[in-house]
Amino acid sequence: MAARDYYERLGIPRTADEKEIRKAYRNLARQYHPDVCKEEGAEERFKEINEAYATLSDPAKRAQYDRMGHETFTHASKGSYAGGGFEGGFSSDFAGFGDIFDAFFGGARGYQARGPQRGGDLLMRLQIPLEDAVAGAERDVEVWHTEPCTTCDGTGSDTKKVVTCSQCGGTGQIRQATQSIFGQMVRMSTCPRCGGRGRVPEKPCRTCAGAGTHRVKRKVSIRIPPGIEHGMRLRVEGYGEAGEYGAANGDLYIEIRVLPHKGFTRQGDNLESAVEISPAQAALGSTVEVKTIDGRAVDLKVPAGIQHNTALRIPGEGVKRRGRPGDLLVRVRLVVPRHLSDEERELYGRILDLEGKARPNEEKKSSGILSDIADFLGGKKE
Ligand SMILES: [Zn+2]
Ligand SMILES: [Zn+2]
Repeated sequence: MAARDYYERLGIPRTADEKEIRKAYRNLARQYHPDVCKEEGAEERFKEINEAYATLSDPAKRAQYDRMGHETFTHASKGSYAGGGFEGGFSSDFAGFGDIFDAFFGGARGYQARGPQRGGDLLMRLQIPLEDAVAGAERDVEVWHTEPCTTCDGTGSDTKKVVTCSQCGGTGQIRQATQSIFGQMVRMSTCPRCGGRGRVPEKPCRTCAGAGTHRVKRKVSIRIPPGIEHGMRLRVEGYGEAGEYGAANGDLYIEIRVLPHKGFTRQGDNLESAVEISPAQAALGSTVEVKTIDGRAVDLKVPAGIQHNTALRIPGEGVKRRGRPGDLLVRVRLVVPRHLSDEERELYGRILDLEGKARPNEEKKSSGILSDIADFLGGKKE
């Protein structure tokens, strides 16, 4: 069931407009809401519906989803935590989840004055060669982050119990009254003992000194989807910092930096390279060998009469985006030889004759005449 694409999950055609999407989502969400539907697998189904809606209801995400296909979109990362996603195009958290509770069930989620805070997100930059951006790649990255302390299960307490903070009485804030010439001033500030949480470990944990978390290095396997662009971020769910006791971890974002390539540049899904040809090849046409970005040699036909800087297209050798790969554009650079053999000189000379243009030695003859005149005028011929 999980493999079904987002359109199938909502039971709508790929051409559905925003209204149809919303309608289908609302109907299904009502039907499968875990508080309403006691059918087996309803909760799973409900999550799937929300996941689909989160993407399809956002025009930008939907466009990217359509372009990349379901697989690429949903399997951008393979952490050992659940899910993971492709930021900017896809997120596997249930962005619509909060909305649906509020809209249909009156916001039944219980909050404390200040609930436990979700862990912070981490951002990491990863440099990849252009080849990997074109074809996709898998990488292992190492990340330092905090995880719940294993000794105290994240509670920060040896007894694994948290108790109400005695300093603020559980409110997380303290009042400070001061006398000034204007009268009494009351200032509210965050409780220094519990840091605003209102609760403190019953007996501070020996391992983490009451923090509830510890710092560890983890290896994360990430999948870089083909076609990723410089500056895009991959999200690895749950690999950010640990949340406060009872709250979720943050996410790890990996920002992709694509390194410049010496032979290829990228324009959207197309790649561009260059090949040098001689004047004879340009005039008569020829076949030249060019390299694709993955190092294969491909024969490229150069048509007769081609002009300098013309781009020739090799279909399908660009960015390997699913379903619609880009092309390789090979720009022809006409390079005039700097040195000629006697035979080549003679052949180029004959072309000049045919074109009715002067050969260089004729020019030399005329410059000879000029120097004769100069000599005559100077009257110093010897
Ligand atoms: Zn306190
Ligand atoms: Zn601990």
